[in-house]
Amino acid sequence: NAKRKPLIAGNWKLHNNHFEAIALVQKMAFSLNGADFDAAEVVVLPPFTSLRSVQTLVDGDKLKIGYGAQDISQHEKGAYTGEVSGPMLAKLGCSYVLAGHSERREHHNEDDAVVNAKVKAAFANDITPLLCLGEGLEVRKAGDQVAHTVAQLDGALKGVTEEQARRLVIAYEPVWAIGTGEVATPDDAQEVCAALRVRLGELYSPEASRETRILYGGSVKSDNIAGIMAKSDVDGALVGGASLKADEFVKLVRFRE
Ligand code: PEP
Repeated sequence: NAKRKPLIAGNWKLHNNHFEAIALVQKMAFSLNGADFDAAEVVVLPPFTSLRSVQTLVDGDKLKIGYGAQDISQHEKGAYTGEVSGPMLAKLGCSYVLAGHSERREHHNEDDAVVNAKVKAAFANDITPLLCLGEGLEVRKAGDQVAHTVAQLDGALKGVTEEQARRLVIAYEPVWAIGTGEVATPDDAQEVCAALRVRLGELYSPEASRETRILYGGSVKSDNIAGIMAKSDVDGALVGGASLKADEFVKLVRFRE
C-alpha cells in the first residue's frame, strides 16, 4: 500500500478548551520536530470552539499538522440553531470532518441517511469526510461484522460520485473497541478493512479501491499500533483517548521508528 500515505488522526471528542488546545498542539509540534511527515500525515480534530485557535497556530508556525472538525451540518445555512456549516468549516481551513462516528449515531440518532447528507455536505465544501463505520458487540458476536459495516458504507455513499469517492477516508471503528481499552486484533481490523476496500471497487472503480485510505479506530495505543498498521489494508488510525496526551500521540505518529 505504498501509494496510500498513513494517516494518524486524533479525535479529541469533548476535551480541551481553546487555551488547552493551543498548549496541546504546541507540545505535539515540538515533539514532532524532525519527524518524517512524508511517513505519516498528522491530523487533529478538536471541538468547534478550538478550531480558530488551532488554525492560527498551524498557519502562524507553518506546522505540518492538519486539522478538522468532529461534525458538520447537513445544511448550508438557515434556521438550524446550534449547527455549524460546511462553508464555515471550510473558511476555518478544515481539511477533514468526521461523519458517522458511533457516538453521533448513538447519542444524536444519526442514521445512514443523515451520515450520507453530512458526507455530501463535506464534499460540497472541499472538506474530506472521515467516514466512520463499525459494528456493535451484538453484531460482532453474531459474526455479521462485514455485512453490517459494508451496508453502512453503501448507505453513507448514496449519490457520492467517483471523483468524490477517491478523496474519501474511511475509518473502521468497531463500537465495542471505542474507549473500552479492548482493541480489535490486527486480523479483525484487516478482515473488515479488506471487505470495505473490495466494496469500494464494486461501487466505484479499481482506482477508488486502491487509493482510498481505510483507517482502524478503537483503543489504539502506542503499544498496539504497529501490529495493526502492519496489515495490508489498514492505512492509519483514528485515535480518541490516546490523542489527548502529546507524548503518546507523537509515539503513534512515529509508529515506524
Ligand atoms: C474514537 O473516538 O474514534 C476512538 C477510536 O476512541 P478511542 O481511541 O478512545 O477508543
